[in-house]
Amino acid sequence: MIVAPDAWRSNGVAQSRATNEATAMTNTKTCAACDYPLDENAIQVRIGGQTVEVCCEDCAKKLNEAYASANATTTG
Ligand SMILES: [Zn+2]
Repeated sequence: MIVAPDAWRSNGVAQSRATNEATAMTNTKTCAACDYPLDENAIQVRIGGQTVEVCCEDCAKKLNEAYASANATTTG
Protein backbone atom coordinates (compact mmCIF):
# COMPACT_ATOMS: atom_id res chain seq x y z
CA MET A 1 0.00 0.00 0.00
CA ILE A 2 1.55 3.24 -1.14
CA VAL A 3 0.32 6.42 0.42
CA ALA A 4 1.29 9.59 -1.35
CA PRO A 5 1.59 12.50 1.01
CA ASP A 6 -0.56 15.41 -0.03
CA ALA A 7 1.00 18.79 -0.06
CA TRP A 8 -1.23 21.36 1.49
CA ARG A 9 -0.77 24.80 0.25
CA SER A 10 -2.53 27.61 1.90
CA ASN A 11 -1.91 31.04 0.68
CA GLY A 12 -3.76 33.62 2.66
CA VAL A 13 -2.56 37.08 1.89
CA ALA A 14 -4.15 39.70 4.04
CA GLN A 15 -3.49 43.17 2.88
CA SER A 16 -4.53 45.85 5.20
CA ARG A 17 -4.92 49.29 3.80
CA ALA A 18 -4.39 52.16 6.11
CA THR A 19 -6.34 55.17 5.05
CA ASN A 20 -5.42 58.41 6.60
CA GLU A 21 -8.27 60.77 6.66
CA ALA A 22 -7.03 64.00 8.02
CA THR A 23 -9.92 66.14 9.01
CA ALA A 24 -8.31 69.50 9.29
CA MET A 25 -11.51 71.47 9.03
CA THR A 26 -13.20 70.78 12.29
CA ASN A 27 -14.60 74.20 12.97
CA THR A 28 -18.14 74.61 11.77
CA LYS A 29 -18.88 78.10 10.60
CA THR A 30 -22.32 79.51 10.62
CA CYS A 31 -23.96 82.43 8.88
CA ALA A 32 -23.49 85.66 10.79
CA ALA A 33 -27.06 86.64 10.04
CA CYS A 34 -29.19 83.52 10.31
CA ASP A 35 -26.84 80.96 11.93
CA TYR A 36 -27.23 78.64 8.98
CA PRO A 37 -24.26 76.23 8.67
CA LEU A 38 -21.94 77.50 5.96
CA ASP A 39 -20.51 75.46 3.15
CA GLU A 40 -18.08 76.33 0.37
CA ASN A 41 -20.60 78.78 -1.05
CA ALA A 42 -20.26 81.10 1.89
CA ILE A 43 -20.02 84.78 1.10
CA GLN A 44 -17.54 87.03 2.85
CA VAL A 45 -18.78 90.45 3.77
CA ARG A 46 -16.99 93.32 5.40
CA ILE A 47 -19.02 94.85 8.16
CA GLY A 48 -17.46 97.74 9.99
CA GLY A 49 -13.93 96.69 9.11
CA GLN A 50 -14.61 93.13 10.18
CA THR A 51 -14.96 90.26 7.75
CA VAL A 52 -17.87 87.98 8.42
CA GLU A 53 -19.30 85.11 6.44
CA VAL A 54 -22.90 84.66 5.44
CA CYS A 55 -24.82 81.98 3.58
CA CYS A 56 -26.40 84.09 0.88
CA GLU A 57 -26.63 87.58 -0.60
CA ASP A 58 -29.79 88.28 1.35
CA CYS A 59 -28.00 87.74 4.63
CA ALA A 60 -25.15 89.94 3.45
CA LYS A 61 -27.71 92.65 2.76
CA LYS A 62 -29.34 92.16 6.13
CA LEU A 63 -26.03 92.52 7.92
CA ASN A 64 -25.19 95.65 5.97
CA GLU A 65 -28.54 97.19 6.76
CA ALA A 66 -28.34 96.17 10.40
CA TYR A 67 -24.90 97.71 10.70
CA ALA A 68 -26.02 100.83 8.88
CA SER A 69 -29.04 101.27 11.11
CA ALA A 70 -26.96 100.59 14.20
CA ASN A 71 -24.55 103.34 13.23
CA ALA A 72 -27.22 105.73 12.09
CA THR A 73 -28.03 108.44 14.55
CA THR A 74 -31.60 107.98 15.52
CA THR A 75 -33.51 110.78 17.05
CA GLY A 76 -35.87 109.47 19.52
ZN1 LIG B 1 -27.75 83.39 6.31
